Amino acid sequence: MKRILMIGTGGTIAAEMTEAGLVPELTTEEFLKYVPAVRNFCEVDCLQLFNLDSTNMQPENWLEIARTIRSNYDDYDGFVVCHGTDTMAYTAAALSYLIQDARKPVVLTGSQKPINSEVTDSKTNLLDSFACACDGRLGGVMVVFGGKVILGTRARKCYSKSFDAFASINYPLLGAVQDGRLIPYFCPQPQHDLRFYDALNPHVALLKLIPGCDASLLRLLLSENDAVIIESFGVGGVPYGENGAFYQEIESAIGRGKIIVMTTQVQHEGSDLAVYNVGSRLKSRLRVLEAYDMTTESVVTKLMWLLARTKDPETVRRGFYTPVANDLLCAQEY
Ligand code: ASP
Repeated sequence: MKRILMIGTGGTIAAEMTEAGLVPELTTEEFLKYVPAVRNFCEVDCLQLFNLDSTNMQPENWLEIARTIRSNYDDYDGFVVCHGTDTMAYTAAALSYLIQDARKPVVLTGSQKPINSEVTDSKTNLLDSFACACDGRLGGVMVVFGGKVILGTRARKCYSKSFDAFASINYPLLGAVQDGRLIPYFCPQPQHDLRFYDALNPHVALLKLIPGCDASLLRLLLSENDAVIIESFGVGGVPYGENGAFYQEIESAIGRGKIIVMTTQVQHEGSDLAVYNVGSRLKSRLRVLEAYDMTTESVVTKLMWLLARTKDPETVRRGFYTPVANDLLCAQEY
């Protein structure tokens, strides 16, 4: 039988109702009892790291999950990380940079309803996750939720209440789980040896533009952070392009060695900064980075990972445009 390490971090899947709303209180050991069938097809060890609503998840928690997988890697065939759904896509992306080219499955899952509710998605999600972790044809970091298998760098929570909560952004699903069996659609193969990393730089901020947004907001974020991601409109740009205050803030920040990444608020198809006048000079003159088809979750965590290793803008640039775990398909630069 395959040996699986189940790592508990909290979320609705572990939640109990209190007078002040749902609170993660159950341990992995306790909620695994609701799906006894798991023990028929694998040996499971349970490890409770913390019990957090994932709203409270911090970069140091991602590091702790990665460290735990690293120190147990040789002893298990796969890992199931139980996690709140709200920030699961960030954790999946972060783990994809901290644990690279793993052949063994690292499955993140959770649920929209607690395991002790009358109607719940948690039992199916757990069974599906263990099926994927045991199957072994798909390796690396993935989210298994609502019958879908999603690459860790491509997951996004798209529905706040429905059981089919997650989607794969700008990348096909890795597979599906039906009747407790994994159906892989394709299996991306690792290109290098397994690598673990153990540092993140949390000084990364995200600014979502709205019409009328003032450039002083960008200045404020830049004063406190090494990198700012600007989530702009459509394929990308800033108000009034090279004639606006945003352009000047960006120019001066780049002169000070800060990292600026342009991305889009639009869910699908990514950025293309060169298209419109409001974005083209950012690209050709200031050489700001752009996210292309990457998810914002991946951009945030990739910058944290890169900036923990270097602050040299050229090295960050090269690292940013080097695909990791299929996070980036259509960068034109490299
Ligand atoms: N607030 C919860 C969390 O992210 C939601 C969930 O798990 O579905 O921890």
